[in-house]
Amino acid sequence: MKQAPHSHRARKRFGQNFLVDPHVIRQIALAIRPAASEHVVEIGPGQGAITALLIDQCKRLDVVELDRDLVPGLLAQFTKYPGFQLHQGDALKFPFADLCREGLPLRIVGNLPYNISTPLIFYLLTFKASIKDMHFMLQKEVVQRLCAHPGEKHYGKLSVMTQYYCAVEELFDVAPGAFRPVPKVDSAIVYLRPHRQPPHIANNVEKLEFLVKQAFQFRRKTLRNCLRNMQSDVPIDELEWDLQLRAENLSVQDYVDMSNQLWL
Ligand code: SAM
Repeated sequence: MKQAPHSHRARKRFGQNFLVDPHVIRQIALAIRPAASEHVVEIGPGQGAITALLIDQCKRLDVVELDRDLVPGLLAQFTKYPGFQLHQGDALKFPFADLCREGLPLRIVGNLPYNISTPLIFYLLTFKASIKDMHFMLQKEVVQRLCAHPGEKHYGKLSVMTQYYCAVEELFDVAPGAFRPVPKVDSAIVYLRPHRQPPHIANNVEKLEFLVKQAFQFRRKTLRNCLRNMQSDVPIDELEWDLQLRAENLSVQDYVDMSNQLWL
């Protein structure tokens, strides 16, 4: 495995692919562009590639890093900034709402470890009331799934559930050569902004998630086949839906409407 800069040996289990391309790092900072009054939280700062460009721009920058070995390097670079605070620990357990001060919503950013990116996004969405927006570097295929629309190849449970909570936008691609070690997959930057006023409201989000999971269980089958054994308050055949359709034909609004009709 190639060595990352500053002689830190990149750890696969922490998903460490460090950004080394200054052009890409600048492009990411420009996309985030925090205002001087804003509070940014970076997940997985690593060796500080993105941190170094954001630290001058915002009032407060908290970073959450799991790898203890990266802590001394981060402190050496950034403790001189009064708004900087490092939290050594697991972002999947971090109490993000505790960082919120004076009602100032958080701007979350990160070149995320790819193995935890989806659970981390859903964990962060439990703090959506404290979050203004999120910019993440993810595996390109995950970004395509987050952003996909009905009828598209990548449209699935991840698209429906993410778009239920957020406006989602694919910003730009990043080639493997921008990282050390070089990953085997393409990457992309995604922008997620939790809805302040959700456009569709499910009476029971767990039921919505269950319905979407059942519907996409066998993509090529009709809704009738996928949903016929599903337990619900109202039998699926009693609803006025065309059950010859497939899961990929229904929009987020359709799923919310259907789940609100199935469970009273
Ligand atoms: N931001 C740096 C960059 O762009 O060069 C590093 C990105 S690297 C893909 C992912 C970073 O997330 C690593 O620093 C890794 O140690 C850290 N990390 C991995 N799992 C984590 C977790 N559960 N919580 C917080 N940080 C984590």
